[in-house]
Amino acid sequence: MVIVEGIDALRSELRARRGTVGFAPTMGYLHEGHVSLFHAARRENDVAVASIFVNPLQFGANEDLDAYPRDPEGDAEKAQRAGIDILWMPTVAEMYPEGSATRVRVEGLTDGLCGRSRPTHFEGVTTVVTKLFHAVRPDRAYFGQKDYQQLAVIRRMTKDLDFGIEITGLPIHRHEDGLAMSSRNAYLTSDDRARALVISQTLRTLRSRWADGERDALALALTLAAGIEAGGLRLDYAEVLDGDTLLPVAPTSRRVVAVTAAWSGRTRLLDNTVLSEPDATLDLTQNP
Ligand code: AMP
Repeated sequence: MVIVEGIDALRSELRARRGTVGFAPTMGYLHEGHVSLFHAARRENDVAVASIFVNPLQFGANEDLDAYPRDPEGDAEKAQRAGIDILWMPTVAEMYPEGSATRVRVEGLTDGLCGRSRPTHFEGVTTVVTKLFHAVRPDRAYFGQKDYQQLAVIRRMTKDLDFGIEITGLPIHRHEDGLAMSSRNAYLTSDDRARALVISQTLRTLRSRWADGERDALALALTLAAGIEAGGLRLDYAEVLDGDTLLPVAPTSRRVVAVTAAWSGRTRLLDNTVLSEPDATLDLTQNP
């Protein structure tokens, strides 16, 4: 594996290789969820590229940019073990040189959920992913369903702007007790972490209510909200929506998703589960 910093170095490494390119962008502090994207990029392509870049543009003014956990050496080891060929770790100056003024914005899909509580977040994500895509020019790119709205926004952008990149969404990786893996879990105190389990537990309750025939999206959303709040978390949102449009469920909906964000102590956690189709994303069978 080679590690590169500049876009020119990245491009010359890419030019030296032949075949299809698979790409997994991340913000680092890697866990098994990230590594599953790397494995897919490795398995399905001739060249596997990963990036690590903590993107300032997607953090709000009072968010955790400075505190965001970092471990470049540990990350490089994990990427190498996962079979990554090129690990790209650009600097902020490289990505946003002085005078940089262009932003990419997806409308509609970014209005609700995380877009409501983090109004500039998705513009930061779509701008950086556009730049990463232009630099790497992958055939395929890999994202986690953990960030469900982000995946929907990136699919939309890729289609609307004719990137010609195949986007793959991969299942949520969880700890044995059900907590969705996240770099931000590093912020959790042991009390925060114990309380956070209510999120995946309540999503599991929703799945059994769905299996029992409950189809009232509002009732399901209220169950999700009530469960999470009863567990002592501060709710940001809990909604049951059309899994493609992120609009209210309609008779034409092909899939239904339950999505939530909640604060455990000072840490904002995201989770979701697809209710309407066989779902590998909430495999909690080992934790009855
Ligand atoms: P991040 O480093 O948090 O920006 O995440 C980079 C990529 O890893 C995104 O596509 C995330 O959706 C994905 N990811 C993060 N956590 C998980 C997880 N627990 N399971 C699967 N994918 C994940």
